[in-house]
Amino acid sequence: MARKLAVIGAGLMGSGIAQVSAQAGWDVVLRDITGDALRRGTDGIEASLERFVAKGKLEAHDADAALARITTTTDLEAAADADVVIEAVFEKLDIKHDLFRTLDKLVKDDAILASNTSAIPITKIAAITEHPERVVGVHFFSPVPMMKLCELVRGYKTSDETLATAREFAESTGKTCIVVNRDVAGFVTTRLISALVVEAAKLCESGVATAEDIDLACKLGFGHAMGPLATADLTGVDILLHATSNIYTETQDEKFAPPELMRRMVDAGDIGRKSGQGFYSH
Ligand code: NAD
Repeated sequence: MARKLAVIGAGLMGSGIAQVSAQAGWDVVLRDITGDALRRGTDGIEASLERFVAKGKLEAHDADAALARITTTTDLEAAADADVVIEAVFEKLDIKHDLFRTLDKLVKDDAILASNTSAIPITKIAAITEHPERVVGVHFFSPVPMMKLCELVRGYKTSDETLATAREFAESTGKTCIVVNRDVAGFVTTRLISALVVEAAKLCESGVATAEDIDLACKLGFGHAMGPLATADLTGVDILLHATSNIYTETQDEKFAPPELMRRMVDAGDIGRKSGQGFYSH
């Protein structure tokens, strides 16, 4: 019998997670707070599946079968019989706390509660529950159907069984997992990209090299698919400034101290592709 997954939040990440899981055979219930949000989520899933079919990477009947495995709801009770629950709502601790407090009481004893948070410590989310051992970070990357990585984050009290179930789930969707054994600010991936972007922005700020040349150094010298400053523009300079500021606040490690250039760019609204101007003009 197919296992049941509840995805809470039908935004960019939640809809992507629902899609890859349904493609992998999970029965998925996708929950958001409004019908509009659910429609946007399912429209996105349909469009993504159609693109895979158009490119010949997916059979039309498999796309239809995946869609048929996804149901949508605004009722959180629908998560009650799920084996795995994954939360992908706004990156706000109080919203996540409300959800985990309720889910903790609602779900089956052996269900795991995963969060797709990019930066909130899993231990902080788990602390609101009575069963912190079953809470785990399962951090997918955007766009979920394309990106191969899943970062599993062990909170202070996450059990080995929970981590194993999280890995089984993520691998079933075709992802390769890395494990973050200590719940540090920024986990592994956000720490690495923050350190690289901060140093790249400092080199650019002090006139050591142009943005183009710094990115070329990473692409041609290290084989990166995209340079750090182009990555900052794609992700949003504001998002990376926020991420690195959080890591700096927690660690007081100077290498994460946000450079003035990034702060002023955000003040000025030059946050990257979203605004048309960042380290590059778009
Ligand atoms: P998003 O804004 O696209 O979607 C969030 C969705 O959550 C919205 O549809 C909203 O209506 C819904 N929501 C809010 N409160 C809810 C509730 N109580 N119950 C159900 N649904 C609720 O956000 P996103 O980019 O998909 O990010 C979701 C999470 O994933 C965040 O924690 C974010 O940090 C993390 N994340 C994002 C990315 C990314 O590239 N965007 C990458 C990795 C992880």
